[in-house]
Amino acid sequence: MRFYSTKNRNISVTLREAVLKGIAADGGLYMPEQIPSIGKDKLNRISSLSFNEIAFEISRLILDSDIPEKDLKDLIDKIYSFSSPLIKIDENLNVLELFHGPTLAFKDFGARFAAALISYLIRDEETDITILVATSGDTGSAVASAFYKMPKIKIVLLYPSGKISEIQERQITTYGENVTALEVEGNFDDCQLLVKAGFADEELKQKMILTSANSINIARLFPQAFYYFFGYAQLEDKSKPIIFSVPSGNFGNLTAGIMAFKMGLPIYKFIAATNANDVFPYYLKTGNFIPKPSVKTISNAMDVGNPSNFVRITSLLGNSHELVSRVIFSESFSDQLTINAIKEIKEKFNYIMDPHGAVGYLALKSFIAETELENYNGIILETAHPAKFVTIVERAVNQKIEMPELLTSCLEKKKLSQKISNRFSDFKEFLLSLN
Ligand SMILES: *Cc1c(COP(=O)(O)O)cnc(C)c1O
Repeated sequence: MRFYSTKNRNISVTLREAVLKGIAADGGLYMPEQIPSIGKDKLNRISSLSFNEIAFEISRLILDSDIPEKDLKDLIDKIYSFSSPLIKIDENLNVLELFHGPTLAFKDFGARFAAALISYLIRDEETDITILVATSGDTGSAVASAFYKMPKIKIVLLYPSGKISEIQERQITTYGENVTALEVEGNFDDCQLLVKAGFADEELKQKMILTSANSINIARLFPQAFYYFFGYAQLEDKSKPIIFSVPSGNFGNLTAGIMAFKMGLPIYKFIAATNANDVFPYYLKTGNFIPKPSVKTISNAMDVGNPSNFVRITSLLGNSHELVSRVIFSESFSDQLTINAIKEIKEKFNYIMDPHGAVGYLALKSFIAETELENYNGIILETAHPAKFVTIVERAVNQKIEMPELLTSCLEKKKLSQKISNRFSDFKEFLLSLN
């Protein structure tokens, strides 16, 4: 498969370049030149396939002949020892649980695929590569976990000191080995600026191979299509219209859903569920995409004021506001409504949902109220385990919730971060010392 830049359809690069560069030289995002179809036959017998078999079928189509089938199968079996179970909570209502990976959030699906693919692509390389990631939480832990102990790869995570929760900090600072966590005296923007300056620095470019594994990397994006297919595979009655509600921030998850749709998955509607960061619903309403500074909310992984993947969504849907509006419904919800929803879902369906999933629930409910659909397959993507937001969730449902072993165990491990100022010279000195 070859990949184009969303800024210029005529740019055409290999998988290797798209994945190792992460972003096109013109600042555009990479997209596959073709979106292949899964085909009627495969779709008809999809319910007999396992998650890994579906992941293999989809990635084989997207990667085309870039990786021999045997290697691709091995790669997938190595990274996915978990899947995405579909839980039916009411006649028309299902939850697709995406939190069964090692860091308990959906980013594990993409990060683990990207790690394995990068490692595969550089297997014959002489020099190590260094991956820089600025993180305010979830991304860092998914990336650290995915690349942990991978040969020839060093991970440098930058996070703002004192600005992330204790659990989040433990999740990224307790690895060691090839993962270094830098505790930056500054805020998240400082971390991002350091990473950017790192990529731009000529001396660093000459002395080491720097790359990024952030969510705009196509290798992290398309594996997220796997669970849309697997969610569909698990539906009992596939004849009812299928509605996916996607809690959205940077819109990578939704983009992958639209790729699945274009590959032939019969989806009636996508719902882009957002918190107070409402740039996308505003675009649907007005046709104007106006980025704003992000606002802090309790569904903080969706606090994005300028969603990078917006350009991918419009590119997939013919750069047409009309088509985007036909495929996607979107609405924004406040923190108070989100808390009420967590309580309501517990009372009505005896299900405990995290704040991100709860925004998805609200948006689905609003869409159904508007369209008065009576029979449908509503599928809410539950993007994180509720225990990651224990304080908010326990208060909303008024009971203790169980903490998974994966979370409690990292609280017992030693924090291994290195403090650093927000000055680029200090960061550069650190990077050079890695060689
Ligand atoms: C990252 C994240 C989101 C937002 O996903 P996007 O692909 O950026 O839209 C939603 N929920 C959780 C828990 C996340 O970690």
